Amino acid sequence: MAYTSDSRDRVRAPPGRTAPAARNREPAHPEQPADVVARLRATFRTGRTKLVEWRIAQLRALREMLTENGPDLAAALHADLGKSATEADRTEIGFTVREIDHTLDHLTDWLRPEPAPVPAHLGADASAWTQYDPLGVVLVIAPWNYPAQLLLAPLVGALAAGNAVVVKPSELAPATSAAIARLLPAHLDTDAVAVVEGGIPETTALLAEHFDHIFYTGNGTVGRIVMRAAAEHLTPVALELGGKSPAFVDRDADLDVVADRLVRGKFLNAGQTCVAPDYVLTDPETAAALEPAFKRAVEALYGTDPSASGEYGRIINERHFDRLSGLLDSGRVVVGGDADRTTKYIAPTVLADVDPKSPVMQEEIFGPILPVVTVSGLDEAIGFINDRDKPLALYVFTESDATKSRIAAETSSGGLGHGLPLAHLTVSDLPFGGVGESGMGSYHGRYSIETFSHRKAVLEKPLS
Ligand code: NAD
Repeated sequence: MAYTSDSRDRVRAPPGRTAPAARNREPAHPEQPADVVARLRATFRTGRTKLVEWRIAQLRALREMLTENGPDLAAALHADLGKSATEADRTEIGFTVREIDHTLDHLTDWLRPEPAPVPAHLGADASAWTQYDPLGVVLVIAPWNYPAQLLLAPLVGALAAGNAVVVKPSELAPATSAAIARLLPAHLDTDAVAVVEGGIPETTALLAEHFDHIFYTGNGTVGRIVMRAAAEHLTPVALELGGKSPAFVDRDADLDVVADRLVRGKFLNAGQTCVAPDYVLTDPETAAALEPAFKRAVEALYGTDPSASGEYGRIINERHFDRLSGLLDSGRVVVGGDADRTTKYIAPTVLADVDPKSPVMQEEIFGPILPVVTVSGLDEAIGFINDRDKPLALYVFTESDATKSRIAAETSSGGLGHGLPLAHLTVSDLPFGGVGESGMGSYHGRYSIETFSHRKAVLEKPLS
């Protein structure tokens, strides 16, 4: 186990910051999870993390970490996922900086106690309000696909809410995990923020500890393990999971615009995005008309040979490469279809004539394969969606307000995007999270404060 901060190793430093000498030394006896949690809990009990000044200082330090070390983080993201520098900035580093800025702009407003009307029987001199209390020591467990954003954006919320935090990066993105383990302790208050690197054994050991909240992003199988472990301590959880997010394309939509937006949303990060459009649902005529539009859109974005495009990513590892290559013959190839195991490259691929019973339609694809499934029209599309698990996102491409209203009213999904995939999660004032199999709880902006705080009810009746 590699714990990145150790109280025995610390030298005196300005408050809220660890001295550089402490950063690079490996602790002689790595702290055990119980020691890490006890140390952070002791800090939380001092009340330091509750101070708004401390929260703001930590957020500013995190921002500085990101802006000073952007190129290092981008290099790590490139090593793990072949992410281009533009994509790394847009979807990970810059994304987190924007989340920090939004939080810094609004934090004092969000934390303001909210008055509540008092019933007459308590008398005119009684007053009532709610206030946000930090929860204590929070655990954030992150996945590999956006290994910086999905660790740091929850950290922003947990710090803004005044908690001490243990973060556990994904072992499947080792370069980013190492960069975070090196950078966070060099910038943040190491008595209140700890990085624990590792895989299943390390996470299992952490989950045995008593946290005050566990924020998990990843798949539903591990989500269940997390929730079971949390139940032992009655610890609340947020589970940010995935699933098959459909895109319904209506016959009235401009198909060049639709194809362009679907291609951008689907093939970003080589399709390894939790809210990527998983499959297209449309009628047979629209499906046929979409085929040339998809070809044009892929070529416009990545050229005739996407393997040569610096903007196109790679599959995280051989296991996922093998899983995805096994799905390539689930339909007729319209675009792409080629793959190279040595470079973990799978071309941006669109499949037509896909049977809903085919392998590609059984589980979340989480890779650059876009199947098109045909339905007779809106009624069947709504039935198709409702027959399956509630998705993390649902996308609708139509000019018809009636169609938009029907889908909004008759389906359930974590988020709903009209005309543009993925973008809802960049709106900091919208909650981001799933429902049913796609998860529980939400975050971003003020919703992170809700998630990482207890909203305490307070009543006051003067004694005289
Ligand atoms: P992953 O394999 O990196 O696992 C996520 C975390 O769980 C890691 O930190 C890992 O160490 C830990 N973990 C793995 N097995 C464990 C076990 N047995 N016990 C305890 N901890 C364990 O990532 P993943 O699950 O492959 O991520 C992909 C999934 O995550 C997809 O389903 C995707 O849709 C979903 N996802 C959701 C969101 C969201 O915001 N809702 C974002 C990204 C990914």
